[in-house]
Amino acid sequence: MLTGRQYKDSLKDGRRVYFEGRLIEDLESEPALAAPLQAIADGYDKYYSAEPGAVNPVTLAPRSQQELRDRIPVITEMDLLLNVTYQSLMTLLVAAGRLEDGAPEFVPRIKAYVEDARLRDIRITECITDAKGNRSLAPAKQDDPDAYVRVVERRQDGVVIRGAKLHISAAAFGHDLMVMPTKSMKPGEEDYSIACAVPVNAPGVHITNTTYHPRGGDMRDYPVSAKESIPDSMVIFDDVFVPHERVFLDGQTEHAAVFAHSLGLWERLGGVSFMVIQADELVGLAHLIAESNGTSRVSHVREKIDEMMIHATLLRAGLEAALTNAHATPDGFYYPDDMYTNVTKYQGAANFSTMVRHLHDIAGGAVVTAPSMSDFDNPELRPLLEKYMGTGPGVPGEYRTKLFHAIRDTTADSYGGWHHVTNLQSGGGLFAQRLVTRKNYDIERARALGLKAAGLSGA
Ligand SMILES: Cc1cc2nc3c(=O)[nH]c(=O)nc-3n(C[C@H](O)[C@H](O)[C@H](O)COP(=O)(O)OP(=O)(O)OC[C@H]3O[C@@H](n4cnc5c(N)ncnc54)[C@H](O)[C@@H]3O)c2cc1C
Repeated sequence: MLTGRQYKDSLKDGRRVYFEGRLIEDLESEPALAAPLQAIADGYDKYYSAEPGAVNPVTLAPRSQQELRDRIPVITEMDLLLNVTYQSLMTLLVAAGRLEDGAPEFVPRIKAYVEDARLRDIRITECITDAKGNRSLAPAKQDDPDAYVRVVERRQDGVVIRGAKLHISAAAFGHDLMVMPTKSMKPGEEDYSIACAVPVNAPGVHITNTTYHPRGGDMRDYPVSAKESIPDSMVIFDDVFVPHERVFLDGQTEHAAVFAHSLGLWERLGGVSFMVIQADELVGLAHLIAESNGTSRVSHVREKIDEMMIHATLLRAGLEAALTNAHATPDGFYYPDDMYTNVTKYQGAANFSTMVRHLHDIAGGAVVTAPSMSDFDNPELRPLLEKYMGTGPGVPGEYRTKLFHAIRDTTADSYGGWHHVTNLQSGGGLFAQRLVTRKNYDIERARALGLKAAGLSGA
């Protein structure tokens, strides 16, 4: 296994990582990238073991419903890159099970890769979302044939791929990029039916970084984003060679969707687990700021917090149902129920803006106008800020100001905006969850009930 320091050094491998147009050779030297790098390195140190053959226990697949359930608090505590790595490995294992019948030649490769990745203690990011060009056209019908990642050459020892994957979380911080088709493919789209693992430093890979980590200013004003923000990337594959042992699907259009479906499950479970915590956190902030403002007994404020609590509890119930109705792969790995995971993700995403509206409505304008924490450092200003930001005994001005900064940082400005869009789009937009619901919902039962109610069932 790697220590945090060894992890950081392992990234100095000639990778082409860019930030604001500059090639960054050492991620640690760039303040906006150094903080997430450190958070990931801390994750390495947390799980490090010097035992020969040791692997990070978090990367082992759950073998029972209880193990799956026990994994949830671990997922929400771990750093994002470890979580994405866990999801990638679980996706590969579930996909391997689903390929046993139709494309068994890839199964040993996938299993060998997973084993090796664990032993090398590497981090893997998920590269699914293509550039996609014109959304109403299929991959092979695009003006630019590279709008979806594709194989441009097949050699005796491997394939050459070209294209780009967009919005990839933490891509610059991992060791491997797990490339997979973003959707199902049809005959004629064989070149687009490619799944493989590509080292980040493979020749031809270029990675941009977009981050909402605070840029300058006082980190105390950004209590959430300073700790949690991690860059998203465009990953460009400019004719990248991938050897056969790292290719997990090539040309079998009928299996193209297996990877994205398997991933959707793990990704949305991760998303739902975080949403449950975040919903409770928004309830907590609403309750604390109402108390600080002296409005916690005002009826409309209480009703809004009640609604927020109901939403947070329903999300928790949905997560609970996804775990209780977990399924096992043929290899005995447990994964959450598709339908419950998806409908919960949908509810969390669709109602996030209502939660934020209630929070802002309750909190007041200081969400965006509160003085900076460095204003409190000024000895002349401090007593005045305490006087006017405080609301009485037990609610000092600095305490209340910190609550406003947490609310703004999570929901109202740069990182808050990222948070808003991410809730909707990450793990697939609302439409993706509607489709899964449509596929899994027991519509026959519902129709039978409708017919019975109308006296048309003939029973
Ligand atoms: C912060 C963040 C992190 C992410 N991390 C990752 C990651 O690590 N790995 C990864 O692979 N992806 C990642 N994503 C990508 C995410 O899955 C996509 O943003 C999402 O699937 C939507 O794709 P898009 O952004 O290209 O938007 P579009 O596909 O353009 O979608 C925009 C809207 O158009 C609709 N639409 C598009 N095409 C059609 C169509 N043909 N028919 C009907 N409706 C259509 C969609 O439903 C949606 O409502 C991340 C996204 C964000 C915001």
